[in-house]
Amino acid sequence: MIQLIEEAASRAGVMLTASMAEETAAFCSYVKEANEKINLTSITEDEAMASLHLEDSWHAVRHIPLHARLIDIGTGAGFPGMALALVRPDLELVLLDATRKKVEFLTESIGKLGLAHVRAVWGRAEELARDPRYRDRFDLAIARAVTALPELAELSLPFVRKGGLFIAMKGSDSEAEQASGAISKLKGQLEDVVTYGLSGLDHPRSLVLVRKLDKTPRAYPRRMAAIRKSPLT
Ligand code: SAH
Repeated sequence: MIQLIEEAASRAGVMLTASMAEETAAFCSYVKEANEKINLTSITEDEAMASLHLEDSWHAVRHIPLHARLIDIGTGAGFPGMALALVRPDLELVLLDATRKKVEFLTESIGKLGLAHVRAVWGRAEELARDPRYRDRFDLAIARAVTALPELAELSLPFVRKGGLFIAMKGSDSEAEQASGAISKLKGQLEDVVTYGLSGLDHPRSLVLVRKLDKTPRAYPRRMAAIRKSPLT
């Protein structure tokens, strides 16, 4: 596994120390073990884990400023959040998920690895985004595979401080066009769409970078039912 991890890091352009590679391998083994009891992820084979989970997450590294405070919305088994935490000790990270068992798994893993700069939080983004301890507090929000971009932007942008960045990890269709109305209502501005390839995957992936220009209006995020029923356009 260590070799697969090192290759994934090098493809994503990430520098790994030997201890980072070992901790990453340990985390992957925790995911596999826990996955036998709780449904964390469908990707558990070593090579697929290295490229589809680790390498994919690590492609975001170059867009994350030094010492940033970051929240991963809907982190699941810890992707991209844990993968980022393992290679960026300078960051301060919150891994948010609505599923209690996933958060318990992450809290236990963080404890076993002795990571002091990362914390897993159980909650719903649309509720936590209204809590003053979380709203407008992050330099960066990131999310992969949670929901369509207009909804995801509504769930994520409120967490970001003015001037900060929201990164949506998407597939070959970045969805940026359909989300442009939503992004501007939330006081964001599309900054860039960066595409990249992953080993073993035949379609491109994309990172949608959204800059937060001003505070998100207090009406957002709405309740989940309203977000689903009438996505921002
Ligand atoms: N980001 C991970 C997991 C994607 S699955 C990955 O790419 O592998 C989507 C995850 O988002 C699930 O774990 C689910 O519990 C969580 N989720 C969905 N809606 C949410 C919400 N409103 N607030 C917080 N977490 C949410």
